[in-house]
Amino acid sequence: MYLNPFTFHQPTTISEAARLLANSPHSKLVAGGSFLINNLKQLKRRGMKTPGHIISLKNIIELKGIAVDHQKLVIPSMTTIREILECPSLDDNFRILKNAAKNIATTPIRNTATIGGNLTCRYTWTEMPAVMIALEADFHFIGADNHEHTLSAENFFKNGAKTDKILSHITILRDKNAALVYARVRRSGYVDIPLLSVCLKTAFEKNSLTKTCLAINNSVEFAQRDTKLENFLNQRPIFQELPQEALDHLHEAIYNTRADDYKKYIFRVTLKNALAELIQKKPGILK
Ligand SMILES: Cc1cc2nc3c(=O)[nH]c(=O)nc-3n(C[C@H](O)[C@H](O)[C@H](O)COP(=O)(O)OP(=O)(O)OC[C@H]3O[C@@H](n4cnc5c(N)ncnc54)[C@H](O)[C@@H]3O)c2cc1C
Repeated sequence: MYLNPFTFHQPTTISEAARLLANSPHSKLVAGGSFLINNLKQLKRRGMKTPGHIISLKNIIELKGIAVDHQKLVIPSMTTIREILECPSLDDNFRILKNAAKNIATTPIRNTATIGGNLTCRYTWTEMPAVMIALEADFHFIGADNHEHTLSAENFFKNGAKTDKILSHITILRDKNAALVYARVRRSGYVDIPLLSVCLKTAFEKNSLTKTCLAINNSVEFAQRDTKLENFLNQRPIFQELPQEALDHLHEAIYNTRADDYKKYIFRVTLKNALAELIQKKPGILK
């Protein structure tokens, strides 16, 4: 199928791209194109208006190249899922990004799909949002005024993941003491997109969990924290039955988005297993 005609822009700087975005009526950014091209086809098929201007981020060098040091990780938005998966310097709390990346789609899609596209596409089921919330990441945006606007991942998704700016990069602070787990429930064996993804971060203090951050993506709403469960877990002494007992302290509305009882059950089993895996990370505990 031929796409409707549009003007294709290939800016080489973020400020040029931001200006084009603000000044071209009915324009759209394209990063890897793994969603956008299909979206354009769907709009055409339905007889709906398609953007007159497509602004590619591909030639903007500032949007590429992961940087990591002893304090923080900087992931520019044009970093592909494959680059995250293969980055040799993701250690400590940053390593969890690889666990999530390895589940995403297939090799050809991971080669083109970008982290920026995954976070800003507004599909509620993509997996990186829960990981970014659990890692307490900050998102940095550039608007037409060329100023940087920073928003926490949690607030970005709380506000419906809407932006009229360019996501330029993501920053995450290094945390050597954090223990993290990532888990997901597959939709089916064929279409490998998740029904649920969960990322848990905690720090062990003596025999308790502290500063627990539990981000859930039920694929119906944008990723969010289950603060009710976090409150239950924080300062809780670790004991064998903790993962089971935790299931009595869920913010139920987050997990009950499916009419199917089996899916509701699987969500709880996944969460329980993720919690069990998390507490196993404390050396010498429950082994
Ligand atoms: C078959 C298939 C299976 C998949 N399976 C999974 C899966 O299992 N788990 C998962 O998490 N994801 C999955 N994905 C989603 C995949 O990760 C996304 O397609 C991808 O991340 C989107 O990135 P992109 O660079 O191709 O975005 P594009 O298609 O280029 O853009 C998507 C949207 O994001 C906007 N955008 C992109 N970059 C920016 C930016 N820097 N600033 C502002 N707006 C921007 C665009 O304007 C567009 O609206 C799957 C996709 C496909 C096609």
